[in-house]
Amino acid sequence: MSGVKPRALRVIAIVTCAAAAAMLQAQQPAPDLILSNGKIVTVDDRFTIAQAVAIQGDRIVAVGTSEEMARLAGTNTRTIDLAGRTVIPGLIDNHMHLLRAATTWQKELRWDGVESRKQAIEMLRARAKAVGPGEWVYNIGGWTHQQFTDDPRPFTREELDQIAPENPVSLQESYYQVFLNSRALQALGIEANATDPPGFVKGSIKRDASGRPTGVIQGDIPATRPVAAKLPKVAPDQLEASAQALIQDMNRAGLTSVGVPGCNADVLEIFQKWKAENRLNIRIFCIDGAAAANPEQVERVLAQIPKTKLFQGDSYIDNIFYGESVYGPLHDPMFAVKSNPTPDQLLEWRRIATEIAKAGLPLHVHAELHDTIDAFLDQIEAINKEYPIKSLRWTLAHVNQINAEQLDRMKKLGMYAAVHPWAVINGGIMHAEFGDGAYDMPPLRTIQNSGIQWGLGTDGTAANQTHPFMTLYFAVTGRMVGGTKVLRQTISREDALIAHTRKNSYLVFQEDNLGSIQPGKLADLVVLDQDYLTVPAEDIKHIKPVLTMVGGRIVYDALRAGQAAR
Ligand SMILES: [Zn+2]
Repeated sequence: MSGVKPRALRVIAIVTCAAAAAMLQAQQPAPDLILSNGKIVTVDDRFTIAQAVAIQGDRIVAVGTSEEMARLAGTNTRTIDLAGRTVIPGLIDNHMHLLRAATTWQKELRWDGVESRKQAIEMLRARAKAVGPGEWVYNIGGWTHQQFTDDPRPFTREELDQIAPENPVSLQESYYQVFLNSRALQALGIEANATDPPGFVKGSIKRDASGRPTGVIQGDIPATRPVAAKLPKVAPDQLEASAQALIQDMNRAGLTSVGVPGCNADVLEIFQKWKAENRLNIRIFCIDGAAAANPEQVERVLAQIPKTKLFQGDSYIDNIFYGESVYGPLHDPMFAVKSNPTPDQLLEWRRIATEIAKAGLPLHVHAELHDTIDAFLDQIEAINKEYPIKSLRWTLAHVNQINAEQLDRMKKLGMYAAVHPWAVINGGIMHAEFGDGAYDMPPLRTIQNSGIQWGLGTDGTAANQTHPFMTLYFAVTGRMVGGTKVLRQTISREDALIAHTRKNSYLVFQEDNLGSIQPGKLADLVVLDQDYLTVPAEDIKHIKPVLTMVGGRIVYDALRAGQAAR
């Protein structure tokens, strides 16, 4: 957990030495790669801007001016001329259900970043044609109809019948509602004037006055689940290709590391294989551990906790947290306005959390609503007296309804905040459900000003979209996808970037390796097509990585493709 200290000391020695370049030349082989003539946003503690960076193997060895880096070059050093482009550290999402997504990704019609309804429909039509009659066309969240700036309307059954008459179509909008066409309704056994099929939440299947299903399934996560559960996953022999497409999409978006709640064993196995072959293009930090769904399961979970072993991996794949649930009945729903944690439930929560503290394990726990956060903090303060958690980085995740007082309590406990603004796509729903209170969900400025260690993520791929530049745009402008202002507590673009890089490196226990462009750290970085620091705020969401690097390996390269095309 606290390893790599000798390296950190060596790094400090290098950067503080006036003759750093000369020393490097004398002691180390020449860099393999130099990126020069750019704007290197290092995101170090002083937010230093440099011109060039030198990489040897998987690590950054020097940062400075283009001339300084050129002096380090040897005969085999490759140089990339950045032509003035901006470079930032590889982006880290501290909470994305990435491995689960691999089981459907290749089959999903993803609409992350699609801003036109017309384009979305064209994609739908093309997918129906590509898969052929009778095959499902679907997505599982990550979008909202409000992102379509040309025509922000929900889909109707009749419209989907027209677009894809021969395919069952299921379009899941976040975890809020699902749009189905007639063939999908038929496949799911949802009929006019008949009882609902088993598994569906009462009232979630919307029907017109005559009892005919409209094609809309609406509610919270439990309402959407029975549909998602019936959709075909990728075949076992296609899982690797699906995972590859997923990681390529993440690299294209600028992501190089992800905190992952629930690391599916079958997908993890593929990632382990790629790691052994030196071609794992994203770093995976698992948040895993069994939650008790009811009082009967508590004993079983208590017995498992002492056997949990974290930090047995490395900077590519590791288990780092127990989470993201402790006790199911206290897992806040997504769109509930208020929670009511009962003493009985909190007693069970406390028994499990105490065992986690006693075992010395970090905990990353789903906590969303004000009363739930308060109740958890009451328990944690009590646990902390018996089993101090100060060095364990206990983290509350999502925290949309957190306030200054709660942040203060967390700070005193040495806790962290993993912030995932669901409003990026759910802002419209949240304003309808929570009223004006949604303007402070999450209270980003309060969180930033509290001085707590916190980081940005998405909670994608269903609850939210996955593109980090959309999250950064939201944090800076308070606008959701589609452009509607939904948040008043915005932060500076520097603070937003720090929260998506350096601060997140703490949330994945990799602060010695990741999060900034500094000598000694792993060479994870992203070259951008526009300057994040000076582009109009409205355009942050349209920034596109042109090159993404993980551990010194180029994993996405539009620069070279562009040059070849010219
Ligand atoms: Zn969660």
